[in-house]
Amino acid sequence: MFGRPTRTIVCPSCGRLTRADASECLVCGRRRPGAWGLTSSLQKLFRSGGVTDAITVACIALYVASLVADPLGALRPRGPLDLLAPTSRALDMLGMTGAFAWAEGRWWTLLTAVYLHGNLLHILFNVLWIRQLGPAVEDVYGPARLFVIYTAAGVLGFVASNAIGVPFTIGASGAIFGLLGAMVAYGRRRGGTFGGLVLRQYGQWALVLFILGFFMSGVNNLAHAGGFIGGLATGWVLSLAERRAETFYDQLLAGALAVLTIAGFALALWTALV
Ligand SMILES: [Zn+2]
Repeated sequence: MFGRPTRTIVCPSCGRLTRADASECLVCGRRRPGAWGLTSSLQKLFRSGGVTDAITVACIALYVASLVADPLGALRPRGPLDLLAPTSRALDMLGMTGAFAWAEGRWWTLLTAVYLHGNLLHILFNVLWIRQLGPAVEDVYGPARLFVIYTAAGVLGFVASNAIGVPFTIGASGAIFGLLGAMVAYGRRRGGTFGGLVLRQYGQWALVLFILGFFMSGVNNLAHAGGFIGGLATGWVLSLAERRAETFYDQLLAGALAVLTIAGFALALWTALV
């Protein structure tokens, strides 16, 4: 009566409710459906809205960290379009990517640089787009798949620009182009009038933003193109939420990418400080 209440989880195999501490799922008989707590942790982490919020918080926290790491440099007066810009030294310490980091074998910067931003306008613009597109992608794919798309697109965007030789780069915009690409993939796969509308809407946004990039200085257009293709391809491969609900394995893949990203920040700090 007064013991710890039995937690209920969604079984990774059959998708029905079962007890987290059961040795076998009561419905399908899967052994250890709770996977020693992993199932419920993943289900908490990849709940509705959780991924968009977590990405927002990570971007803001790392922007603040990049300012605090070298405050005098960040406060040095620049133009209004380059307000509160962290120094290259601070960004490099937190995992800025580019051909330079790539040549030194710092592969983890492909993951970490997605969460770093170069000034106040840069982060404001990107966070607004993440909060606009994250819920839409989550709606049609699911929260864990949203994180897989975001990460894959961010990484592929930087792979493209590092390979061509862009020396230093940061920012979520490649990943954001990936979210647009995933919505275009959804529109194409869904088809019909609604699918056509989605495809046109997000395709137009991607095109306008891509062209805009050529009129602004310091924009990594290669990362935008690479990110869009990455999101399009990932969105093409992943299941749509309306056809197949997210499984334990979608959450496991997203969880592994989250752990790898956090490990990337640890590696960035380790190589910078030790
Ligand atoms: Zn089951």
